[in-house]
Amino acid sequence: MLPHLLSPVSAHCVACGQVADIADGLPLCPDCLRRLLKARHSVDALCPRCLSVLSIGHPCAVCRRDPDRLVSRAFAPYRYRGTVRGLILRLKFSGDTPAAALLAPAMAEAARAAQADLLVPVPLGRRRQRERGYNQAALLAMLTGKLRGLPMEEALIRTRETKRQSGLHTILARRQNLIGAFAVRPGTDISGKRILLVDDVRTSGATALACARALREAGAADVQLLCAAIAPGAGRYFRPSAAAGRRYRRKE
Ligand SMILES: [Zn+2]
Ligand SMILES: [Zn+2]
Repeated sequence: MLPHLLSPVSAHCVACGQVADIADGLPLCPDCLRRLLKARHSVDALCPRCLSVLSIGHPCAVCRRDPDRLVSRAFAPYRYRGTVRGLILRLKFSGDTPAAALLAPAMAEAARAAQADLLVPVPLGRRRQRERGYNQAALLAMLTGKLRGLPMEEALIRTRETKRQSGLHTILARRQNLIGAFAVRPGTDISGKRILLVDDVRTSGATALACARALREAGAADVQLLCAAIAPGAGRYFRPSAAAGRRYRRKE
């Protein structure tokens, strides 16, 4: 490699936006890089199946909402906070595609144990895809698929426009918003295939569950979930009476 490629360059950090001396090819300032490495799952009690952060002594609320095990397992390298949250928001709302290139290697590594034939991204609605110009989940699926040597296919579509999940504050509202919202793209054959569903963030798991239902109904042999980050607190157990009215404190 030429010496000038190894020396730091002054550029915008893709996570915090500050101008800093950063290594060429890794568009993060030193502080954000340190935070990114620290954002990996660490000492919290995690659900072994879906990686939700648990309250000690309680079952996982996300798994409880999926009694039929439509999503058989979940993989994610990060929790949704700090630098990772910054990267995902930039990827989603600023079209910052280098952020996807930073997240994909960790996702590919997190999904090492996944047994999959095909990566399928969670689709955007037609209107949102037009506004944004790209689907961030498809971008992550494409990059991760390349690293894992797996094909990616946009096999799911949204059958109707839904409200933004982040604007809905109860589990019930999030679930109702997505009933019948996904279908397998006509002409796509996924029967007997083991699907690794890809999304940027998982919060309540309602989106993954609705996608998994559509994939299973179309004959998928298995559905596992891979996302860049899992929102902390999503798996905490709420008493059923309180669950419907429980407000999400997180915005995503
Ligand atoms: Zn930074
Ligand atoms: Zn769980």
